[in-house]
Amino acid sequence: MSFLRSSSDRRKSASKATRSTVRGGGKSKIVVNQRLQLNPDNNHQPESYEDLKSNHFGPWIFRELEKHLPSNMLNASRDKKVKYMSGILDEYLSPAERFRGQKQKEFRQKIISNYPPLHKELYTMHPTTFFVPEFLRAINDNTEDSFRRIMSEPAPGIFAFEMLQPRFCELLISEFDNFERWVHDQKVRVMRPNTMNHYGAVLDDFGFQTMLAKLMEDFICPLSKVFYAETGGANLDSHHGFIVEYGNNRDVDLGLHVDDSEVTLNVCLGTKFSGGDLFFRGMRCEKHVNTESRSEEIFDYSHFPGQAVLHHGRHRHGARATISGHRVNLLLWCRSSVYREIRKYQKGFCSWCGECKREKEERMHTLIDNTKLVSHYVIFILHAHALLSRKMT
Ligand SMILES: [Zn+2]
Repeated sequence: MSFLRSSSDRRKSASKATRSTVRGGGKSKIVVNQRLQLNPDNNHQPESYEDLKSNHFGPWIFRELEKHLPSNMLNASRDKKVKYMSGILDEYLSPAERFRGQKQKEFRQKIISNYPPLHKELYTMHPTTFFVPEFLRAINDNTEDSFRRIMSEPAPGIFAFEMLQPRFCELLISEFDNFERWVHDQKVRVMRPNTMNHYGAVLDDFGFQTMLAKLMEDFICPLSKVFYAETGGANLDSHHGFIVEYGNNRDVDLGLHVDDSEVTLNVCLGTKFSGGDLFFRGMRCEKHVNTESRSEEIFDYSHFPGQAVLHHGRHRHGARATISGHRVNLLLWCRSSVYREIRKYQKGFCSWCGECKREKEERMHTLIDNTKLVSHYVIFILHAHALLSRKMT
């Protein structure tokens, strides 16, 4: 983690800034005698930052960073600490990101203060009315065994389980429809969830940010810490939550792609439809994202309402055409800024990419073949030498 670089380091690295959330850039506002402590104060109990409406940084980062605050700031008011830490974290954003973040914040505030929610109860986490009892029990037990009891792993790294209650799915679709109607009536321009889906809405834009942060932290993190620990799942700290729609007059299908996430939760909310299967084509690193799939990586999955699929964001996937009806899904892209920061410095072979693994195996085989060839050659020379010596004596 690079929070602790000096302010001059951060200025120097401004030109290298590319796309990650935690990185250098901009002018420093840190007062020299109020520097962060190199070693965290692990005896200090950080505040809760769950309700914080930061566009770029999750509550986890604020909690971790608080332990590094100058000792005279540890007991300051929460507002003062937030202001101080936000000042530091903002240094890691490019001016374009800061601008985008500010615009997004204004856009959200405008919508949240004007949009009248239809089902207010959805906006705060109510586990017993949101989740099926088996899922809640497994999360409360919080062991790999308890998770595996309710989950199937139909292909390596892809987990399927029943998660949401039918009533919750119904209400969330109805809230989304209500929001779409309001957007249409008020002629509000909304941002679509991503570059590939032309229908749907970002749930964080109309008030779901706190509820989804809780969903990630309390219900997805326990699973991702067990199943995706090596690939960012141990440190999820921000999310992007949205609804996508497929069917008549909507998106029909979704081509093969990877998500901008470490862990993706994809829950089918309804309604009645045919087609729309998900297809998976193996994990790939940035370098190998367009390479062929091997037969063992090809996997198709039929989704049904209430059912969740959990997979790594780099697991290539898509959705087949929804032939009839209306298919609505809830997506939660869970991200880890720590993992992304570490990945920037990891070069070469990637342990989870199917193509990196294939290349490594190929190199191993070539090496073994070459070693065999050399040893055969040595044996041949020794024999020839022995024969020659016999003939000469
Ligand atoms: Zn690779």
